Amino acid sequence: MHSRRNFLQKLSIGIGAAALAPLSSSASLFPAFKKPDKKLHVALMGLGGYANIVAKAMKECKLASLTGIVTGTPSKIATWKSDYGIPGKNVYNYDNLHTIANNPDIDLVYITTPNSLHHRHVLQVAATGKHVICEKPVADNAQQAREMIAACKKAGVKFYVGYRLHFEPHTRELIRMRKAGEFGRIMHVNNYMGFKIGDPTQWRLKKALAGGGAMMDVGVYALNGARYATGEEPVWVTAQETKTDRVKFAEVDETVTFQLGFPGGVIASCGTTYNFNNYERLYLIGDKGFAELSPAFGYGPIRGRTHLGPMNQPLITHQAAQMDGLADCILNGTPDPDMTGEEALKDMIVIDAVYESLRKDGEKIYLDKK
Ligand code: NAD
Repeated sequence: MHSRRNFLQKLSIGIGAAALAPLSSSASLFPAFKKPDKKLHVALMGLGGYANIVAKAMKECKLASLTGIVTGTPSKIATWKSDYGIPGKNVYNYDNLHTIANNPDIDLVYITTPNSLHHRHVLQVAATGKHVICEKPVADNAQQAREMIAACKKAGVKFYVGYRLHFEPHTRELIRMRKAGEFGRIMHVNNYMGFKIGDPTQWRLKKALAGGGAMMDVGVYALNGARYATGEEPVWVTAQETKTDRVKFAEVDETVTFQLGFPGGVIASCGTTYNFNNYERLYLIGDKGFAELSPAFGYGPIRGRTHLGPMNQPLITHQAAQMDGLADCILNGTPDPDMTGEEALKDMIVIDAVYESLRKDGEKIYLDKK
């Protein structure tokens, strides 16, 4: 039986395997780290599956530390306090969240609630004057993302989205090689990401909490990957959907294929699903070389090869690298990676166009007219 839980287990096994492999600490990955006067103090909001992964990973961090939680489930509090040494004064719920503004022990709130709550929660956190990391997909649509960016700008806080792969060594190497021209002119991209979802009652299958289905949840990896594989922004989108289970996927998309047309002439052919496993790959080919990451988007271990041979990048804990990397940006002023709210908005504009194309039976949607 396959399910989201199995998928996450597979991913955690990945983390386990990474732990056995020659592991680089995020500090040695980013030697430019300056030692700041203090660590970045983080509160996690929405203590579900992914928050648990982030919290465990943060035990490896050098520049960031978990100091608080925001939860609507009082029964979770005791375990989190004891597992992570969180003091009672740093425990919040959704009603008293605004009082976090007065807590000097918390610099940033990391939002890991269901997708359709991200908009409301980012606005609430920004109003407290704390920096924000929000999980992907950043919002239900581009308009919400614009409002979230504006709120963070107004509050003068940083706004990042949990695109952890931007701190993942294989992904970074692929981007470096592309920027250095080592693949030559990029000719084609073929990315896909999906899994077979389990429990039919979960929020991921409810439009009001998920915003959409596979496209929103994991299709965003294929899309974001097409943008970093080409270094360009798409100018048009077409999309098609297959729905084999109209009961389970009554409210959200099941399997979507989509094509992105880029200004340089590349067409990225992409796919995503909630209905089968072993669907995870990024492939780019240029006129001088190619790169393939597979698996490409899960927690790892990421594996890759190029026209030069196997990629031998270190295997790391993605979430630890992300948290130390973003702490370095906030504490030391290191330039932001492509994980800002603005970058996520670019993805949301494309996701809106994918859904528009699906509504219009595959019609070509031109993004320069948006
Ligand atoms: P989850 O269901 O395991 O956890 C969600 C948490 O939000 C739960 O603790 C739940 O109690 C809480 N919550 C607060 N208000 C809620 C409400 N009204 N309804 C339902 N739950 C509510 O989900 P998850 O897998 O942890 O995913 C959370 C977010 O993290 C999603 O946006 C998802 O896309 C993202 N995510 C990102 C990655 C990644 O690799 N970057 C991986 C997994 C999940």
